[in-house]
Amino acid sequence: MFGNELASYHFGEQHPFGPKRYWAFKKEFERRELDKKVHLSEPQQASEKQIALFHTQEYINKVKTLSAIGEGYLDCGDTPAIKGIYESACTVVGTTLKAVDLIMHGNCHFIFTPIAGLHHASRNSAAGFCVFNDCGVAIEYLRGQYGIQRIAYVDIDAHRGDGVFYSFEDDPELCFVDFHQDGTTLYPGTGFINETGKGDAVGTKLNIPLPANSTDKMAKAFWGDAENFIDKFKPQFILLQCGADSLAGDPITQLNFTSKFHAFVASRLTLLANKHCQGRLIAMGGGGYNLDNIKAAWNDVIENLL
Ligand SMILES: [Zn+2]
Repeated sequence: MFGNELASYHFGEQHPFGPKRYWAFKKEFERRELDKKVHLSEPQQASEKQIALFHTQEYINKVKTLSAIGEGYLDCGDTPAIKGIYESACTVVGTTLKAVDLIMHGNCHFIFTPIAGLHHASRNSAAGFCVFNDCGVAIEYLRGQYGIQRIAYVDIDAHRGDGVFYSFEDDPELCFVDFHQDGTTLYPGTGFINETGKGDAVGTKLNIPLPANSTDKMAKAFWGDAENFIDKFKPQFILLQCGADSLAGDPITQLNFTSKFHAFVASRLTLLANKHCQGRLIAMGGGGYNLDNIKAAWNDVIENLL
């Protein structure tokens, strides 16, 4: 998914989630001539009805109101209510849903969308630079629109995907696998190994907290378990949040992965997607606040989806 409208989702030049993230990705994407090797599809905006598949109407109304005013915060101080953020957040969600449609109509498999994977937003609140949770909306949309129940969500962003986890904690048909920097040393402060799901869903969630400074080798030591976990679940659709903030040199996190880990995970998940679900896989860019890391991680993921 490719188009300048995606760059409109940001919180200002001085904010870590600034507008340069998309342009850095695009420059490298074109330098590697990947634009000539993939099918490009333009962004689209989600409707309010689509946002409401996951978010509460009360919260949607709040975002609309504060976005029109363009002042204050949508959460406790991480996510500013900049003017027009409602529309640009709808573009992020709409683009992820368009990726779902393209795959479900058989037009593509293995889609990457750069400004996406806003995994911290909960059903009734923004959090951690995430206004609307496109991952959560996509899960509800896959179920409501296409009858796809068994979905695997895999997250290798340095931050744990708490907005997805807690929204589906008691849902046995949502398989959740999350590699992240240990919650004792990084936002959002959760994601311990004993969080395995609730009720009927116990055993469908796998949190893999890693100490600060963990390398590819340390993360890969847990990959076999993660892959078996997903394989046994037999997903009908796979979502990957491949945040680039788990690479060494990110200004707000402390993991020391290289883009090779992202490439490896993308490549292994294509095999699982081919085995279980006819190649139905969407990779979402997620976080990442070092522009060189964004360039490397996201484009390496695309090369491995090809
Ligand atoms: Zn992150």
